[in-house]
Amino acid sequence: MNQHAPKPTRTAATVDLTTEPPDQRIRTQSFRRQRQEQRQQLTVNSQPGTRRGSQQQEHVHSPPLNVNKPKVNTRPAVHIIEGLLPGRPLPTDGTCVILSHQDPEITSDQLITKFYNSYKPRDHNVKINRIAKISSSRIAIICNDQNSAVELSAFIPTIEGMTWSTAQKKRPILRIHGIPDKTTVEDLICQLKYHNDELANIQLDDSNFVFAFKKTEGDVKESNADFFFRCDAAIHKIFTANPFVRIDYRRCRVSNYSNFLQCWKCQMFGHSSSNCNQKIACSHCSEEHNTKDCTKKRTPKCVNCTKYNLRVKNPHFRLDCSHSAMTATCPIFRRMREIAHELTNYNGS
Ligand SMILES: [Zn+2]
Ligand SMILES: [Zn+2]
Ligand SMILES: [Zn+2]
Repeated sequence: MNQHAPKPTRTAATVDLTTEPPDQRIRTQSFRRQRQEQRQQLTVNSQPGTRRGSQQQEHVHSPPLNVNKPKVNTRPAVHIIEGLLPGRPLPTDGTCVILSHQDPEITSDQLITKFYNSYKPRDHNVKINRIAKISSSRIAIICNDQNSAVELSAFIPTIEGMTWSTAQKKRPILRIHGIPDKTTVEDLICQLKYHNDELANIQLDDSNFVFAFKKTEGDVKESNADFFFRCDAAIHKIFTANPFVRIDYRRCRVSNYSNFLQCWKCQMFGHSSSNCNQKIACSHCSEEHNTKDCTKKRTPKCVNCTKYNLRVKNPHFRLDCSHSAMTATCPIFRRMREIAHELTNYNGS
């Protein structure tokens, strides 16, 4: 460290006095003297227990000082090349056809083989962009255009046992925090309707309010659980209009749950660790071990940004990798979360 560099003082930590004025012409002697006075005044006034520091800023003239400025998102804009994102979600623009088989024993690998053997896209003037396994028994065929998807879906019923559907926007997921773990879903719905006037006359059933899963780890308190429901956009709006719902004698927080998957094993997106066929990767240092076995706590390196950079030809568009793969510091994580939001039906359209 440069020993001649001026030491930052505690009082200066929240005050940016180094900002250059936008116009150099006003950097006159009187301006310097004025800033010097302001600097001295602020150092005196920002002692703990006084409010004069915040009063002082009202009298400061241009250029403004960054005193008590509200926090803004200062993350630099990052250019992400969409085609290089790991585990891209399925498009919902009518170009994606999802295939499954009436026999649930048929795996997605067998389904792909069966599809290849039964269908030659060129014979039908169909253009296929890619095929993706989306679960152990379903595959998605993403076509170049909607006409190709229509042609393809018309042919699928002629293949023995095969059925198809289109990729739709997902239903939003509602999270109700801190419910006693042993509560049944039926009991919970009864209590929601009984204790919350705004829900009393609303139908909550398997068609619009479906229990998805519950979570008892993480920041959930002992013997409590967070319950997650897939619901219609209208129901989601009613619940999230209030920060809390009453259940029995307690108030439980309600929030939206971002509906996107990140694999605990390989850190990629769009699949869970139970459907993962990738190499294991640590979310902290990107090496081949389980995250909880990681010993390199001080040197984060994001596996997704590292892999992304290997595929980016222009060095100008490479990403900074010095972060964990499972945090919002990661630009790929943030973009995948945004895409998940775009592909969730919050409007009921
Ligand atoms: Zn994985
Ligand atoms: Zn590690
Ligand atoms: Zn990253």
